[in-house]
Amino acid sequence: MGMMDKWVESLDYQFHISDSCVRSKSPWSTCNQCVKCCHVEAITLGNHLPIIDAEKCVECGNCMAVCPIQAVEGIFPKRTIVRNQLVAGEAFVPTVNELLVFHAKGITSILFHSKVLQETWKHHVQETNRILVQLGKSPLLTQIGISPIEKNESVSRRDLFSLWGKEGKSLIKQVTPAQWRFNHANLDVARYYPDYQFFDIVVEQEKCTLCRACEALCPKKCYTIGDDSFEVSAHSCSDCKLCVDVCPEKAITIRPHVSKAVSKKHEMYSNTCVVCKDSFQTLSKLDNKCPICTKRKAGYLKSKA
Ligand code: SF4
Ligand code: SF4
Repeated sequence: MGMMDKWVESLDYQFHISDSCVRSKSPWSTCNQCVKCCHVEAITLGNHLPIIDAEKCVECGNCMAVCPIQAVEGIFPKRTIVRNQLVAGEAFVPTVNELLVFHAKGITSILFHSKVLQETWKHHVQETNRILVQLGKSPLLTQIGISPIEKNESVSRRDLFSLWGKEGKSLIKQVTPAQWRFNHANLDVARYYPDYQFFDIVVEQEKCTLCRACEALCPKKCYTIGDDSFEVSAHSCSDCKLCVDVCPEKAITIRPHVSKAVSKKHEMYSNTCVVCKDSFQTLSKLDNKCPICTKRKAGYLKSKA
């Protein structure tokens, strides 16, 4: 098998949701971003996990772009890029995440065929530009005109394979410039904006019992609990909300917030419990009851004696 055949074959893997999906990590996960974004209802939840119905899927790629963990793999959606310009298609509107990634990869404008923009397009471009301004970047420009490309230069994966037999290597080269090929791993927005964070993580010190559930499960490693401090770093947070879902004390809040990336360090204290006399760690200096005794009914130790 030649190099070109191997490359083409590598494009034809079946799309699926990998076990990095946060729903595979915990039965408490409530993430359903892929389900919500799919406009043809091709993704449903079965047995707690998302399932893609290949018959309904139109390969728009939006689920890949919204999945906070990049767990949707294998879709090869239609996007047309000509000389640093994204050509707006009729059928599919890229998500804000995807437009942010395009901008980071050098796209400066979007070419529309009509002056009347679809509401979703308008909203996504406005939202992307609002974020780009907060990041200190130049916004995406919009232009109205005729696409300079011919029909054959924008093809879906299915078209690609049917045409492969007829037109061979030259077609493959022109339709999929390597730097624009969709790859789920390339849709992690944080990777492209290393100095910024897109979400704010708030841990309520009075509620947190340092159980470490967030640290153990956060797929982006935003939490580090050491010997004397609890560090929260929101740079790579992608709002999967797994920490919120698994925190037994409901001590965590995530909210959209674009700012320079900062780490918050919460000091940890070693206190002695006034009830059981054991020492315990806490984020609240004045906390005088360990989490176990706090949860026990008052008088528990007395009644057992
Ligand atoms: S958006 Fe991603 S992480 Fe969330 S349920 Fe869908 S596949 Fe899982
Ligand atoms: S901090 Fe929470 S919401 Fe953010 S990536 Fe980690 S688990 Fe997901």
